[in-house]
Amino acid sequence: MTDWNAAAAALYDGEFRQMFIDGKWCKSRSGEVFEARNPADGSLLATVPRGTSADIDAAVAAARKAFEGPWAKWTPYERQNLLLRIAEKFEAEWESLCLSDTLDMGMPIQRTLANSRRVLGMLRFYAGQAVAIHGATIPNSFPGEIYSQTVREPIGVVGAIIPWNAPIAGSIWKIGPAIATGCTVVLKPSEEASLTVLMIARLMQEAGLPDGVLNVVTGYGAEAGAALAEHPGVDKIVFTGSTATGQSIARAAVGNLKHVSLELGGKSPVIVCRDADIEKAVPVAAMAVFANSGQICIAGSRLFVAREIHDEFIRRVADYAANLRIGHGIQEDTDIGPIISARQADRIAGYMAVGPNEGAEVLTGGARVEGAAFEGGHFFHPTVFGGVTDEMTIAREEIFGPVISALPFDSLDEVVARANATPYGLAAGVFSTHLGTAHKLANRLKAGSVWVNMYHAIDPAVPFGGVKMSGYGREGGTEHMEEYLNTKAIWINA
Ligand code: NAD
Repeated sequence: MTDWNAAAAALYDGEFRQMFIDGKWCKSRSGEVFEARNPADGSLLATVPRGTSADIDAAVAAARKAFEGPWAKWTPYERQNLLLRIAEKFEAEWESLCLSDTLDMGMPIQRTLANSRRVLGMLRFYAGQAVAIHGATIPNSFPGEIYSQTVREPIGVVGAIIPWNAPIAGSIWKIGPAIATGCTVVLKPSEEASLTVLMIARLMQEAGLPDGVLNVVTGYGAEAGAALAEHPGVDKIVFTGSTATGQSIARAAVGNLKHVSLELGGKSPVIVCRDADIEKAVPVAAMAVFANSGQICIAGSRLFVAREIHDEFIRRVADYAANLRIGHGIQEDTDIGPIISARQADRIAGYMAVGPNEGAEVLTGGARVEGAAFEGGHFFHPTVFGGVTDEMTIAREEIFGPVISALPFDSLDEVVARANATPYGLAAGVFSTHLGTAHKLANRLKAGSVWVNMYHAIDPAVPFGGVKMSGYGREGGTEHMEEYLNTKAIWINA
């Protein structure tokens, strides 16, 4: 069995980590750094370069040089092989990657380890896609005289900006399709979680990634992130993060009309019908929010329950929540880890206060976790609010913390209207043993993904993304490749 504490002590030691431009490890041009701290106890893990627009300029130039250089001559089979080598490398180093994630952003180690199948699957899925990209020969109005065909071309230099809540999957979801299609990437990780992304770059380099194909510039959103979003040398921005930042990125992209894909926030409904299998639905509905301490974009934070079973169901969800183990992510039995930062913790505490102020009832939780074992970190009891109405702040705004708002409903028409009455449209859950009911609800809910009698499932082969203010563009599935390709029409007068 792995001794996670010993492994953690060996992984980071406060030392300076470098960023990655044109295949070289370097400091920021300004020489400035920022600190990466463990959110579980506040300890210093490492210092990281504070990249600014000068570093973004250098990274974009390197990505452009690579895009127009030998990388453009790589065959689909060579790119496929590279992705398979990266997958092997990741598999061999998986425990270190997961441990890094747990130390840097707090996700419980059991959860990072369990995610392995999906991330390794992603790399292998993209490897398959690399050799499946093709255009078409299209019949036109001049048969036998003029031929028309399409070819698919890589879109170019891709700027990728990711949040802190899933650095491994988040970065692979951006880099994988770029390698599959022949694009190059400048990746800006979140300032809250840079270390695992730097480790990913090192592993990719060791697996044979050519210089300049991936560049990682660490730094703050308002500096390095904004510089990347508005850079005229970038052809496409792929962004995952909050809706407010997504809007500013879309505005910044207007300068050179770069393409944009946005995976943004949510306030996802979970609907529990009166014929639901309660035994199965309770833990799934609870973990639809409490997984990763509620720091998940798809959190099913509005829990609509049929009035006939509402009180019983919510009591059981509250009991389930009260029994979750809260602790450092590095402990193997931890269910609920820390919140990423003091700033996020203050936001969550604000929502926990505003709920009762507006008339909601705390059924469990509702407060920070106190005690010597939690010093230096930010931990919350998983919280279930009853007596919530649709107008309350906690039922409308994305909290990004371990908070469920329980809402009774009386009819399916009513619950569909209420579930859809949000600016967001990322995900939704339905619990019903009646196939027809489940199907009708799934069709009527305005969301990019709907899970029936389950939650959270994400697979590399299945498209994921939002509608409305949860963004546009898809990650996963063959749709994902489209985001990284242009179509060129070629006409030939024979
Ligand atoms: P955020 O928007 O604050 O930051 C995301 C990234 O954008 C970070 O790298 C940050 O440095 C950068 N950034 C910030 N300001 C910028 C600017 N002006 N220009 C360019 N880049 C900028 O989000 P966060 O707090 O890191 O993450 C939480 C949010 O992300 C939540 O809203 C959550 O729902 C969303 N999210 C969505 C998905 C999805 O797939 N839809 C997945 C995970 C997280």
